[in-house]
Amino acid sequence: MTVSATGTPTPQTPAPDPAPETTPPPGASGPAPDRADTAQAAEPTPPTRALPSTPDQPRHGEAVPRVEGLDVAYPQRSTGHAGSTGAPHPGPETTPPPGASGPAPDRAATAQAAEPTPPTRALRSDPDQPRHGEAVLRVEGLDVAYPRRGAGHGGAVGVLGGVGLEVVAGEILGVIGETGSGKTTLARAVVGSAPVTAGRISVEGIEVSALRGRALREHRRSGRVQYMFQDPLRSLDPDLTVIELVGEPLAVAGLAKAERRAAAAEALHRVGLDADALGGRVPAELSGGQRQRVALARAIVTRPALLLADEPVSALDASNRNHVLRLLDSLRRDLGVAIVVISHDLSSLAGIADRIAVLYRGKLVEHGPTAQVLGSPLHPYTALLTASAPRIDRAGGPRAAAGRVTGPVTGPLPWAAAPGACAFAHHCPFADADCRTEPGSSPHPGGRAAACHHPRLPTG
Ligand code: SF4
Repeated sequence: MTVSATGTPTPQTPAPDPAPETTPPPGASGPAPDRADTAQAAEPTPPTRALPSTPDQPRHGEAVPRVEGLDVAYPQRSTGHAGSTGAPHPGPETTPPPGASGPAPDRAATAQAAEPTPPTRALRSDPDQPRHGEAVLRVEGLDVAYPRRGAGHGGAVGVLGGVGLEVVAGEILGVIGETGSGKTTLARAVVGSAPVTAGRISVEGIEVSALRGRALREHRRSGRVQYMFQDPLRSLDPDLTVIELVGEPLAVAGLAKAERRAAAAEALHRVGLDADALGGRVPAELSGGQRQRVALARAIVTRPALLLADEPVSALDASNRNHVLRLLDSLRRDLGVAIVVISHDLSSLAGIADRIAVLYRGKLVEHGPTAQVLGSPLHPYTALLTASAPRIDRAGGPRAAAGRVTGPVTGPLPWAAAPGACAFAHHCPFADADCRTEPGSSPHPGGRAAACHHPRLPTG
């Protein structure tokens, strides 16, 4: 018997006969009954029966499927070689046989085995390249807001508010923050793809946020600012070959084909790829690590002053991640490129970033040298991020953020949602009446700054 919503007992509906599911009549034809409905009616008894047994079903541990001696070959394109004939070729990726008519080997695997040969040649020198330490990117009081969508809505949705930072030549700035904190919007604003409603963005002394029309197109064509997308498989044109993809930004700049190919080959060499071996392939014929390095070669082929890398290693395995991080490190060191790396991966940033900027809900809440920001955060939100980062050098779950975000949250704060209150107050164990007003960014020793009324100052 069941009880209705009004409390009146109602007669129990007879349960359907469950027998047919496990014992289908031999030779039965026609559509099967709607088992989902009957199973639903029979609940809440948890399902304990297995799916209908199949004598052909492999047993646990059996290899399914078995792959032995498999050769895979892609036809070669645009390299002057004849196409694949199906015979495997054992040669390494970096030494393709001239005029070979056999198929290419599994280049993704052999390339992995053959590399990494550390690139030694630099791209062509550029007298205009800023010197190490010179300011390349300066962002001041940046506000970005998108217009509301839909009829009847007015106004705009603010995504960034009052962000200010600077990146110098040869420096890597890591930008961290949860999804929706405004990291990618910041990078998009720098390349002119997000609506700046207030503030200034300057690159090499030019206020790019004020450029419009032809001046903006000229600036983009110069290639002084490059953007490296998170997913190269989506961002790279699937129909272009590697050499065409890498040379494309130079075509936009008006360089002749021969110059483009030479510069593209050099950029590929810089990122550890062989243009002779890979130049004729399309993105689908590359491994994930190779694709990301092609994207990197494409980004540096114009010899940019500033590179914005949006989650450059999030889709890579550990070895490729390390390789790309080392490449970024060498680019800033050898070529003086100023690099902004947006990432969720704090451990990757800890290895290469000079400074870290922390965004929370469109505000810059902390920035400073990497070791200090990640090792001894001033802002409770940074402490929460670092405490949440997975680590393998501990024996029992996430590291306790000793002395940081470990105390109980002080219950509901009615004022926390009021305009002007600290945006992190809802989650902050240190919130008090002071936090009804939004904190401004305050400088701290060691080139640090934090926007918090009660920063977790280091003791001792
Ligand atoms: S200002 Fe107050 S609520 Fe905001 S992070 Fe600092 S202590 Fe927490």
